[in-house]
Amino acid sequence: MKVGFIGVGNMGGPMCRNIIRNTNHEVIVFDLNSDAVKACTELGAAAGASVADVASRCDVILTSLPMPNVVEQVALGPDGIAAGAKSGTVYIDLSTNAPATARRCAAGMQAKGLAMLEAPVSGGTARAKDGTIVIMVGGDAATFEAQLPLLKSFSGEVVHVGGIGMGSTAKLINNMLAFCNSAAAAEALMIGKRAGIDLHKLDQVIRNASGMSSGYANMATKAFKGAFDATFALDLAHKDLRLAMEMADELGVPGMIAPQVMNLMRMARGMGLGGADSTAMIRVYERALGTEVRA
Ligand code: NAD
Repeated sequence: MKVGFIGVGNMGGPMCRNIIRNTNHEVIVFDLNSDAVKACTELGAAAGASVADVASRCDVILTSLPMPNVVEQVALGPDGIAAGAKSGTVYIDLSTNAPATARRCAAGMQAKGLAMLEAPVSGGTARAKDGTIVIMVGGDAATFEAQLPLLKSFSGEVVHVGGIGMGSTAKLINNMLAFCNSAAAAEALMIGKRAGIDLHKLDQVIRNASGMSSGYANMATKAFKGAFDATFALDLAHKDLRLAMEMADELGVPGMIAPQVMNLMRMARGMGLGGADSTAMIRVYERALGTEVRA
């Protein structure tokens, strides 16, 4: 089978390389960044010339792209997947997207005889690399079953959550929770810093106590080292939280906590940290208090 992979950045790159390593499929990649493409062709993938070129040559096409408008352009634009792929091709979007965008893309695909799964992922770059990423899939059950072996080739847990839109719904809820935990971790660590406690001892306690979460662990690991180079950019986290808050508004669920975290992200982006890692939210506290959480 020929598998196309469009968008081989921080997440798409390692997921694509696991498909190359773990299956016998012929993989064709495309990305605007030639270094990202090279990291996949070095492992045996072929380089596609464009989105349309990949679309016309593949049986299954995956995308992992930054923003909903980019996904929609690549999926439904004049030189996009729906325009170029042959009937019967399956399109799988691994990006974090709005449920409504996923539904629009699926309808556009269906009009051209293409099936679509939306399959956002969670676990960050470390789990994308080691092949244990979680995939939450929205779409038709038969298409899901047919694509399960491919999805399992780069994931530790694949969950079919429902029809189109439900994968994005699960992902946005999950990320809202993770960012709230991460922001609370930033505040907690700054209290620890000001209290003068040994931060490694505090960390040892939390990692074995009720305050533990992956949001905490990620924040503490990166803040202690001051390592804010993006593995998950603050701009992308801000996009996810914005989509989650829009979903809450549409459903009439009052936001008490997420909007506070959104304001922390806005302040961090205002400090020029949009391209830094999402954990750079702690820099807002650090700048306000004139001290850093390093250990
Ligand atoms: P990234 O910016 O590292 O990668 C995106 C890639 O898409 C880049 O290499 C870019 O050059 C390429 N690209 C952009 N526009 C393109 C186009 N028109 N045609 C072809 N290639 C194009 O972003 P990422 O961190 O890998 O995130 C990708 C998606 O996965 C996002 O939706 C993000 O929210 C989601 N996500 C990220 C993480 C994470 O930890 N980084 C975790 C889960 C989900």
